[in-house]
Amino acid sequence: MLTGNEIRSKFIEFFKDKTHKHFESASLIPDDPTLLLTVAGMVPFKPFFLGQKEAPYPRVTTYQKCIRTNDLENVGRTARHHTFFEMLGNFSFGDYFKREAIEWSWEFVTEILKFDKEKLWVSVFKDDDETAKIWQEIVGIPAEKIVRLGEEDNFWAAGPTGSCGPCSEIYIDMGEEFGCESPTCGVGCDCDRYLEIWNLVFTEYNRLEDGSLEPLPKKNIDTGAGLERLTAALNKTHTTFETDLLFPILEKVAEMANVKYKNNEKTDFSLKVITDHIRAIIFLISDGVLPSNEGRGYVLRRILRRAVRHGRLLNITDNFLYKLVDFVVDMMKNAYPELEKTKEHVRKVIKIEEEKFSKTLDQGIEMAIREIEKLKLQKKTKFDAETVFKLYDTYGFPFELTEEIAIEHGIKVSFDEFNEKMEEQKNRARNSREVIKEEGQDEFIEKFYDIYGKTNFEGYNLLETKAIV
Ligand code: ATP
Ligand code: MG
Ligand code: MG
Ligand code: MG
Repeated sequence: MLTGNEIRSKFIEFFKDKTHKHFESASLIPDDPTLLLTVAGMVPFKPFFLGQKEAPYPRVTTYQKCIRTNDLENVGRTARHHTFFEMLGNFSFGDYFKREAIEWSWEFVTEILKFDKEKLWVSVFKDDDETAKIWQEIVGIPAEKIVRLGEEDNFWAAGPTGSCGPCSEIYIDMGEEFGCESPTCGVGCDCDRYLEIWNLVFTEYNRLEDGSLEPLPKKNIDTGAGLERLTAALNKTHTTFETDLLFPILEKVAEMANVKYKNNEKTDFSLKVITDHIRAIIFLISDGVLPSNEGRGYVLRRILRRAVRHGRLLNITDNFLYKLVDFVVDMMKNAYPELEKTKEHVRKVIKIEEEKFSKTLDQGIEMAIREIEKLKLQKKTKFDAETVFKLYDTYGFPFELTEEIAIEHGIKVSFDEFNEKMEEQKNRARNSREVIKEEGQDEFIEKFYDIYGKTNFEGYNLLETKAIV
């Protein structure tokens, strides 16, 4: 059976053999004001798709580090979602189109990875007869295994505007035991039975500000296959967490917490959350993000604080996240050599944010639980905004953390009300002519440099994606 590392290499080799140029993974910080983070392999190539820049090669292949915050809540709950994951991709900038993209993806999954054809299904965009025809007549997939889905699943865009197009996906049937009760359970169902492994996007439009679609000057291909999912499906592990890409980290965390995996559902959930989050934390900091209360820094802070809290749930009382850095870096540095260079910096940043948060975490949790008990006695089901805001303001609890604790106890919280409190506070500060910090700044950064001095880390050259020769 192939390991995750082997699948990554096989993919790149396969497309290099088909005259693709291998580009190294771009930073998680995109050179694109419309996007907070790199959410897919195509992000660094948007200017080529849009015809704003001439692509240096017509065919490119990458394995790209990605972060998706929209999947944060899914982590550990589904068998397939991560915040940080690796996307394998092949791209055509006005060169080949549907037929080659489809045939090669099929060749890779059936001849290189040797998936059982019987277990594979595909989806196409509801109106895309051309694609359905290629799958059926050229590849030879039976019509009943070609499922037509709507915009949500089969029309892909990285953001509200920009390059996009209909897509077609490959799914693998993981078996009935992963299915759900729904009578319509099938490809496109949210449960874990039909695992989406690869998305082929036929990038032929540009979505404009007003929502309309403008045809692009050239037709392009953008594909993305999740490495963790391919590895899980091929090795028939129950979740992506049990693949060789993630399981050693999970075991390490279990060892720190002195617990065994698969003994208790709640414990497993926390182990998975930490295992997932530590990769996101390391890669974000390595790419130059620092914890703050806004933008990318907030994403990092939220993920890091959530990981710390799950450490507490596992009864880890010491600061532990920073101790995982060397281990994770050793596992991933062959594929991402930058990790070795930034490792000291990453460890330091994690350590101080963790220390800072740990100090108030216990008090904050105590307060949250006390409030929840009070609400329960009063037979109330909703947190008042005042308390939620106090947890944020005094104890540094990201809203989402309070929300998670509340939900665990069947209590609701309102983001809008919380936001109102935030606004009120900002106005108060303005009115009383207090000195307010510039948006985006954070004392954390200043303190960090006070304590440790500036590190040599200079970030990467964000403008140019370097080709590996
Ligand atoms: P899903 O429907 O399972 O949420 P998606 O349709 O959002 O996946 P795409 O945007 O099509 O995913 O991304 C391309 C591929 O990247 C997917 O087919 C999958 O293999 C992988 N992928 C997407 N999101 C994640 C994630 N959160 N964690 C791990 N792999 C992912
Ligand atoms: Mg998704
Ligand atoms: Mg999908
Ligand atoms: Mg998809």
